[in-house]
Amino acid sequence: METQNIQYGFKRGNDLPESSVLVSESEKKRIRTKVFLQLIRLMNQYTKNPIKSLRLLLRFKKKYQTVFGDAMMSKIAHVDNRYYYRLGSPGFPSLASEKMFKNEISRLISHESEKGLRTLIMAITKKCPLKCEHCFEWNNLNQKEQLSTQDLIGIVRSYQKYGTTQIMFSGGEPMLRKKDIVKILDRSEPGTDFWVITSGLGLNKESAQLLKKHGLTGVMVSLDHHEAEKHNTFRGNSNAYQWAIDAVSGSREAGLVTALSLCATRSYIQGNNLPNYMDLAKDLGVSFVQLLEPRAEGRYQGQDVMLNESEIKTLDGIYLKYNNEEKYSSYPIINSLGYHQRKVGCFGGGNRFFYIDTDGDAHLCPYCVGKTHSVLEYPPEELIGKMKDTSCHVFENSVL
Ligand code: SF4
Repeated sequence: METQNIQYGFKRGNDLPESSVLVSESEKKRIRTKVFLQLIRLMNQYTKNPIKSLRLLLRFKKKYQTVFGDAMMSKIAHVDNRYYYRLGSPGFPSLASEKMFKNEISRLISHESEKGLRTLIMAITKKCPLKCEHCFEWNNLNQKEQLSTQDLIGIVRSYQKYGTTQIMFSGGEPMLRKKDIVKILDRSEPGTDFWVITSGLGLNKESAQLLKKHGLTGVMVSLDHHEAEKHNTFRGNSNAYQWAIDAVSGSREAGLVTALSLCATRSYIQGNNLPNYMDLAKDLGVSFVQLLEPRAEGRYQGQDVMLNESEIKTLDGIYLKYNNEEKYSSYPIINSLGYHQRKVGCFGGGNRFFYIDTDGDAHLCPYCVGKTHSVLEYPPEELIGKMKDTSCHVFENSVL
C-alpha cells in the first residue's frame, strides 16, 4: 500500500523498502555476538591469550562508549546483507571492517594504528549549480578542474594500498562526475567502502542502481530543513528538496546505505525542528542522520555562526536521546562529529580521517579549511606524518 507523508510532500511507494534500522533486540544481540566473536578472534592474534583478549574487548567497548556516548552497536542498520552501526565504520562483515578492527586493536595495545585511515573524504569536482548558505568550498566552485580522472584513480589506489577502509567522494556536486566515479570504482580494490556525499542532484533510481552495480556502498544526502521551501532557500535552488528526497528513495531502492546530513544552524536548533527532522528521516527510512555544526569557513567566513554553549547542549541532548532511548529505537542512528570531538579531541588530520580538496591538497578535515600538503607530491605515509604537526582551529588532536 502506498503511504503519503502529506506534511513533507513525499510518497512512499510499494517498492521502497522498510526502514533499515533493526528494532528486534534478539536480532541485534545476534549481530553483536558475531561482531564480538570476530573481535576476540582478532585480539587473540595479538595477545595469544583468550583471557587477555576478553579484557581487551571490555576496554574496546568502554573506549567506544566514551567516544560515542552509547553502548557499542546499541543501534544497527541492515542493508544488502551487511550491518552498519556508525557512519564512519565500514559495514560488517567485510574485509574493510576487519581491517578497521585490527587498526583499533593495535591502537589499544600500542597507541599506534598498524597503517591506514578510517575515512578519506575526497572532493572530486569544483562544479556545482547550488548556492548553499554554509558551503565550505564556496571560493573554489565552478573553476577549472585540476584533477584528471587518472589523478583521482591514482589517489584512490594509493590510499587503498595504505589501508583506507572508507572513501567518500564530495565536491562541488560529485554526481556531476558520475562517469568518473564509475571508472574509479571499476579500478578500485576490495577492502574499502565507497560513499558519495551529494545534494541529491542527478541521483535517482537509475543512477543509484548504476553506482551500486559498480561497487558503491552508500550515499549521504544533504537535507538542511524538514520543510521543502526552507531547504530550497538554504541551498539557493527551488528544486533542491525534491532532488534530495528522490535521491534518498532511489538510493534506498538500489540497496545503498543511505544517510541524511544536516547543517544544524542556530536558528534550526530552536523549537521543534530537530524532532521534526528526525520524524522525516525515520519516514524516509534512512540508516543515519549526520549532524554538522556550522563553522565560519567558506561562504560563512567572517560570520557569527558557531553554536553557543546552550545550542550545543540542545544538539548533544538530541544526539544522546535518539541514540540511547528505547522510545527512539526505530529512528536512524545519529552521527555527530562535534559530540566526540568535545569528549576526546579531533580524529582529523590523518589520525583517522582527513580531507583532499579539488586541487589535490590535504586539509585536516573539510570544516577546518587550510591546505597543508599536496597528495600528488607525497605518498600517504609521509603526508599523514607531516599533517600530525598541525592541529585543528577548534579542537585538540585526539590521543585515543
Ligand atoms: S555545499 Fe555542496 S551542494 Fe552546496 S554549493 Fe557547496 S558544493 Fe554545492
